[in-house]
Amino acid sequence: MIGPQQVVVIATGLVTPSDNKKTGPMIQVYILIDELDPYEAIRQGENQGACGKCEFQGYWDEGAQKFRDVVCYVNKGQGPSAVWDADYEEKYPDYDEALHRSLFVGRRIRWGAYGDPAAMPVSIVRKFSAICDGHTGYSNQLFWIDRRRADALAQFLQCSCANKAQDAEAKRRGWRTFLVVPKGKEGPSNSIECPYYTRGVNCHDCLLCGGKERSAKSIWVEAHAMTGLNHRWEDE
Ligand code: SF4
Repeated sequence: MIGPQQVVVIATGLVTPSDNKKTGPMIQVYILIDELDPYEAIRQGENQGACGKCEFQGYWDEGAQKFRDVVCYVNKGQGPSAVWDADYEEKYPDYDEALHRSLFVGRRIRWGAYGDPAAMPVSIVRKFSAICDGHTGYSNQLFWIDRRRADALAQFLQCSCANKAQDAEAKRRGWRTFLVVPKGKEGPSNSIECPYYTRGVNCHDCLLCGGKERSAKSIWVEAHAMTGLNHRWEDE
């Protein structure tokens, strides 16, 4: 719903829980371009369906034969590519309510291990957030999509912001935010720093990034893997 390409939405970690140290044993939801693996989608400029206008995805410089301006911290060579390959080889069954619903009950779900949850209908996010016992997720698209959809998604997702001005505007619209600040910088005073870095709590146990369903302050985090962020940050 955020670009012209067909996407697939894949939930992993249903049978064997994820061993991701930061997120803990959450169900991981990947949003991927159906016909192109994650690298190829960006290289061909065909990734909008999965990541929308997110400025962190970078682009392929044909002349220099390399990716540029990639700020996104997700290592596409690991989870996203492996999941796309497995889907290409048709290893994942299509969702069947009678067979698979119970696998979500009592579990916690992470929307957007890769890709932006705004790529799918709100009804899917709402349905599985309700079946699960807790959820986290981020969208960088809330500013660019229809306000009614954005408000509905913000019930479940943090508004992922690229700078303090966006963070302030998102809060003005009533959304909770997630802001990554460059190393050595502080987040806004009306947000709190992610407790994974202050207290070692993982996302599975924390769940603060659950959108407006959580009545808590917004979140900021210092850039750890996102080294490309520093040159584009502007203090007010
Ligand atoms: S605030 Fe909590 S849920 Fe959000 S990223 Fe940090 S540990 Fe995860």
